[in-house]
Amino acid sequence: MALIVQKYGGTSVGDATRIKRVAKRIVETAASGAKVCVVVSAMGDTTDELVELAAKVTDREHEREMDMLLTAGERISMALLSMAIMDLGRDAISFTGSQAGIVTDTAHGKAKIIEVRARRVLEALEQGKIVIVAGFQGVSTEFDVTTLGRGGSDTTAVALAAALDADVCEIYTDVEGVYTADPRLVPGARKLHAVSYEEMLELSASGAKVLMVRSVEYARNYGVLVHVRSSFSGNEGTWVREEDIRMEQAIISGIAHDKSEAKITLVAVPDHPGIAARVFRPLADAGINIDMIVQNASHDGSTDIFFTCPKSDLQRAEPVLEQIREQIGAAGVETDPDIAKISLVGAGMKTHPGVAADMFDALAEAGINIEIISTSSIRISCVVRAGEVEKAVQAIHDKFELSDEAVLREEHPETATGQLKALRVDGSNS
Ligand code: ASP
Ligand code: MG
Repeated sequence: MALIVQKYGGTSVGDATRIKRVAKRIVETAASGAKVCVVVSAMGDTTDELVELAAKVTDREHEREMDMLLTAGERISMALLSMAIMDLGRDAISFTGSQAGIVTDTAHGKAKIIEVRARRVLEALEQGKIVIVAGFQGVSTEFDVTTLGRGGSDTTAVALAAALDADVCEIYTDVEGVYTADPRLVPGARKLHAVSYEEMLELSASGAKVLMVRSVEYARNYGVLVHVRSSFSGNEGTWVREEDIRMEQAIISGIAHDKSEAKITLVAVPDHPGIAARVFRPLADAGINIDMIVQNASHDGSTDIFFTCPKSDLQRAEPVLEQIREQIGAAGVETDPDIAKISLVGAGMKTHPGVAADMFDALAEAGINIEIISTSSIRISCVVRAGEVEKAVQAIHDKFELSDEAVLREEHPETATGQLKALRVDGSNS
């Protein structure tokens, strides 16, 4: 008998009507003969509202109590959904993260799942019940309630799918799947049929909101087949899975953008051994996530170091940076929140030359200045002015003709776009 894990995001369970509609969908899945374990997010903007409420009560950080507060959101949706399912004549039971055996470390607000003790969920499924689990939460090794970080219900779903050895983990959301670019920025963005774990990791880490990064890591590590699809339609969405030949042939999967980072410049840093370590060690110790790093060529024994970090880390970073500046004798620290990072991702990049050049061409033709560049084997990222993000994404999307069915590589590519040929990816080409 098939076992399916379904996760419904906040929009999908945003009000009573939607909860009833989701309940119907779940009952239909169960009626087809599958065992169904459902993970829910909090209704609509509940989590944001709870965060705002806390801010009205206190200025201080109360990590443990904050997790107590935020986990209430998912408790509401799980109970209501369970009731709605029972009203449709199916047996259901809801569990908190703790009851479902989601065991985490003790890092409040960003806890990592270290084990899933799925016995209780399995037993309920065996008894023919539909199981509803609160997403985004667990219980720590110290027996405290924890949360997994914003968007964490995705991770709960994938972790449960792995523990239950589910056939598929369906992530229901308010878009039809994973797109070649954010459809709100690029009207011609195309829904992808499938992306590899590696590509999805790069897309999520580069700002694509559709799946939380950690859920993709988890899916890759445990080989969980993920299907991202809309809760508002019956359409097939996007499959996230092991790379196959077809994916390798498509040079580019998509473009992600991220406006959540800031650029920091350490001005006129003395250029001698050990400086980079003295800059980045204290930042690491302060838990600041550094992303891109660039060091200029040195002139007269000093150089500028640029890097990016989340804007949300800036407040914590600033005093640390000031200390670093004094210690190493740099001339100054400048922070610039007005940047955006545009990332082009595709597994075919590994074997296909010229992709970076084409991306830079697209930006040059659009008159957009590139401030920082970084790459991985399947990603190229450029930092540009925040105000130019829309133009930049559109220009790159056009350059690589991502609106077309799929851009596949011909057998002997000489140049990047020169030899591209649009082919269908539904198998007719293979
Ligand atoms: N409710 C949590 C959030 O808003 C978790 C989730 O939706 O995945 O971040
Ligand atoms: Mg989400």
